Amino acid sequence: MRLTHLRNATLLLEFAGLCILVDPMLSPPSSLPGFRLFGGQRRKNPLVPLPDNWESHLSKTTHVLISHEHPDHLDRPAIDWIRSHQLKVWSSSMDAPNLRRKGLDCSAIESRQDGLGVECIQGTHGHGWIGWLMGPVSGFYFTHPDEPSIYLTGDTVMTDTIRSAVRRLQPDVVVAPAGVANFGFGRDLLFSVDELIELVKLAPGTVVLNHLESIDHCLITRESIRAEMNAAGVGNRVIVPQDGEQFAMERTSATVDAGPFEAAKPGFQKWLTSWFAGT
Ligand SMILES: [Zn+2]
Repeated sequence: MRLTHLRNATLLLEFAGLCILVDPMLSPPSSLPGFRLFGGQRRKNPLVPLPDNWESHLSKTTHVLISHEHPDHLDRPAIDWIRSHQLKVWSSSMDAPNLRRKGLDCSAIESRQDGLGVECIQGTHGHGWIGWLMGPVSGFYFTHPDEPSIYLTGDTVMTDTIRSAVRRLQPDVVVAPAGVANFGFGRDLLFSVDELIELVKLAPGTVVLNHLESIDHCLITRESIRAEMNAAGVGNRVIVPQDGEQFAMERTSATVDAGPFEAAKPGFQKWLTSWFAGT
C-alpha cells in the first residue's frame, strides 16, 4: 500500500494493483467560496494550490472514490477531469444516483469490489441538526490478502458507529480528517482534538491526519495537531502529511474481514442537503 497525500482530503491510495483517487478537489486556489460563515477569517477556497506534480500522480488513477458530495471532496474541475479520463467512480448507494446525474460512471460500492473486501461505515458530519444538514457521509474500510487494511473515516465527528468499527475491524491504517472545521457557530463539523486522540488510542496502527490547512473553516494547523498528539503520547503512530508527500504502509496485525453493510437509499436528507450545497 502506498498513500500519496495531495491536498485536503484528496489522496491517492495504491492498493492491490489499483490506484484509487479519493475525494478529488482539483480547483485552483481562491476559486471556491469561503465556508466559514461567522466569526471572521472567511477566505476563498482552496487556500493552497495542489502540489506541482499532481497531474503526474493522478495519471496513475484507475478508480475514484467519493465519500460525500461537498465541494472540498468533489468539485467541478474534478468532475470534468474524471469524465475526460472515463474513470469508474465508487461511492455509497446513498450518493451514487446523484453522482450519475452529474455524468459520472458511478456504481454503489459492494462488499466484494474488484477483488477488494469493502465495508461502508456511516460518518456523521457534525453534531445535532448541523450534522443532519451537512448530509450523509460514508467511510470505507478496504481489505486485500496482500495489503494492510485501511479505514478512511470520511468527514465525521466521533460516534459510537466509528468507535465500534475501529474496535471490531482493527485497521492497520486509519485516515481521518483533522481540521476541526467550524462555521463560526455551533459545535465542530469534524473530529475535535480530544476525539482524534481517542481515535488514535483506539486504532492499533498508523493514523494519517488530513483535511488540514487547505480550507478556510479548518483553523488548526499541522504543527499544533502534531503537538497535541505528542502531548497525548500517541505522536509516534500519527502521520500528518504535507501536500505531495508519499509513504508506504505496512501490515501491523491480522486482517479482520469487512462485514456486511446495508445499501442505504437516498431520502429527503440527501435531496435537501444536495440542493443546499449546490450539488
Ligand atoms: Zn471536507
